Amino acid sequence: EARMRRGLPTKRPIQGVEHVIAVASGKGGVGKSTLAINLALAIASFRHRVGILDADIFGPSIPRLLNLKAEPQTNEKGELIPLVNFGVKAMSMGFIIGEDSPVVMKALQQLLHQVQWGGLDLLVIDMPPGTGDTQLTISQQVVLDGVVIVSTPQDIALIDARKGANMFTKVNVPILGMVQNMSIFVCPNCQHKVHIFGQNGVLKTSKEMGLDYLGDIPLDADICELSDFGTPVVVTKPDSYNAQCYKEIAKKIM
Ligand code: ADP
Repeated sequence: EARMRRGLPTKRPIQGVEHVIAVASGKGGVGKSTLAINLALAIASFRHRVGILDADIFGPSIPRLLNLKAEPQTNEKGELIPLVNFGVKAMSMGFIIGEDSPVVMKALQQLLHQVQWGGLDLLVIDMPPGTGDTQLTISQQVVLDGVVIVSTPQDIALIDARKGANMFTKVNVPILGMVQNMSIFVCPNCQHKVHIFGQNGVLKTSKEMGLDYLGDIPLDADICELSDFGTPVVVTKPDSYNAQCYKEIAKKIM
């Protein structure tokens, strides 16, 4: 009520969804969408009803990660009907608009409030990278249970990850913790471990900021290739070490 009096947008729940978790990053290309989809699939594998909302307006990658191409239909109420693969319901900016469409903000409203999720335990939102209008709009309009922040361990990515964390704190979104991606590379020939972008940068940053550290995903060609095929590692190789890494993080945020 106080928010309404001050003319601030009010938060409202997403219809048909029990819990909402966002996956965010300071920069693009750090593995945010790959984390979002593998977390969604991991949680679905624990017998929960899961959906993924791809709000990455400038680079929606969920359609490709789930190998979904069709245009979504609408129901009699005009709500978008999600597409489904591997048991996860998906709705994406990429399904409904072109990349440079002038109606981005209108499309975002539709994605947030007019999708027929039809009873989910958890919705994972794949946020755009950085701290722009879209992230702010989502944080202010939707009741988020929390946000996971992913970064690679080099300083240039961590600086922006910090900015992201500070933004979510400012708008009262609980930060569930930080994930470190692509820190360790294990040579497939000699098993030698290499820290390409430095070691434990995300762990250190999370400690400095008083945030939980949720875990580490190695830099592995398999993760990249399977994503490109639209068959993410968690469903394709559920018993692999890579899949276990995603599943461990999934357990911590549930
Ligand atoms: P973002 O959503 O942050 O822009 P993506 O999830 O699209 O990043 O990942 C960027 C690229 O890096 C993709 O080609 C993806 O397959 C690859 N990638 C992400 N995480 C890993 C990883 N742990 N190991 C290898 N490749 C990865």
